[in-house]
Amino acid sequence: MSAPATPHAANRLDLEAIRREFPILARRVHGDRALVYLDSAASSQKPRAVIDALSHYYGHTHSNVHRGVHLLSTEATDAYEQAREKIAAFIGAASARECVFVRGTTEAINLVSQAWARPRLGPGDEVLVTAMEHHSNLVPWQMVCEQTGARLVAAPIDERGDLIVDAWRERLSSRTRLVALTHVSNALGTLNPVAELTALAHEAGARVLIDGAQGVPHLPVDVAALGCDFYAFSGHKMYGPTGIGVLWGREDVLAETGPWEGGGSMIRSVTLEKTIFADPPQRFEAGTPHIAGAVGLGAAVDWLDALEMEALEAHEAGLVDYALERLASVPEIRLIGTPRQRVGVISFVTGDIHPHDMGTFLDREGVAVRVGHHCAQPVMQHFGIPATTRASFAVHNGTDDVDALVAGIRAVVEFFA
Ligand code: PLP
Repeated sequence: MSAPATPHAANRLDLEAIRREFPILARRVHGDRALVYLDSAASSQKPRAVIDALSHYYGHTHSNVHRGVHLLSTEATDAYEQAREKIAAFIGAASARECVFVRGTTEAINLVSQAWARPRLGPGDEVLVTAMEHHSNLVPWQMVCEQTGARLVAAPIDERGDLIVDAWRERLSSRTRLVALTHVSNALGTLNPVAELTALAHEAGARVLIDGAQGVPHLPVDVAALGCDFYAFSGHKMYGPTGIGVLWGREDVLAETGPWEGGGSMIRSVTLEKTIFADPPQRFEAGTPHIAGAVGLGAAVDWLDALEMEALEAHEAGLVDYALERLASVPEIRLIGTPRQRVGVISFVTGDIHPHDMGTFLDREGVAVRVGHHCAQPVMQHFGIPATTRASFAVHNGTDDVDALVAGIRAVVEFFA
């Protein structure tokens, strides 16, 4: 008898029903192979509810927002603002005013680095990051430190890929103005104790930004409980459309943040001499926003709410355990990252086989994984490797997907033996 498709006792999800909601999973690839999609950390696939919401928005409702008096414009504005309300409730925000629509995590972090940090940083100040950050939560801080004379300080990770918390604490001081930290590492799967670290950072007087790109798709997130000041995430990694994401900022912190881009819709009044800016979140949403994207993200949130994030989390946790057990049966595999708490992602190398060869062979079997440095080159440098193969999981994955991955890896290992 083959293993059940969902091994976790707490699982309450109907996997086959969920799979039917993703039209793309019915695709055959490379001839007649079933698609085994294990690259959701790069971008998740979309359920029918999200695709339909986009199509319905464009087919029935579309117009520009916040500026028309006609029916379609008011309907589009309502749809856009309702999406903001849904997202706010989904992440435990105190109000929708705390949610700024952006293109994604990258833009959210750039917004904070340029609009909040740049005017506040100077020589003698520090920004504290970790060695496991995605480039999106590293490069903007390098840039703003260069612009302001502040210093970027990075806390190391250990051989498991966990943050060395003592070393992080040693680097936290009254000079630290901002702590930027990933909720979950996209390269290693490490789940960071973000609430505890946030409390420590606040004691030191620093503001805290959490990169939630790999958090929100996998875990119930409550920004109020985390206690952070900013939380950034991308719609396309949580079953929503590309080109839309959210910067959550606590109301008082957004209020103290100046504008980012100038233009239409972010003003209260303009004369030739002077502009009075709108309050947040409009202050940070210059120009025509990605209205359909916001509506689609609202639909993704409805869809996740209906599934229940706790059930999704339990399902994926069971799957990750199963995958770790199955991968351990292939002696050639060396896991890159064995964090104490892991979410959603498993990275590995296989002897001398280049990850690009591994990825290409697996793809021919219908198994889509990610290979490369995963935009986390410092992580690769830490482990002394150029790249890994990364399998990442979503709610539609089951043990059959893991079995296909392991069978594919075995075939590649035999081929190169
Ligand atoms: N942060 C993490 C941890 C990520 O995994 C990613 C994308 O992979 C990003 C930031 C950047 O997200 P986006 O490309 O959607 O802006």
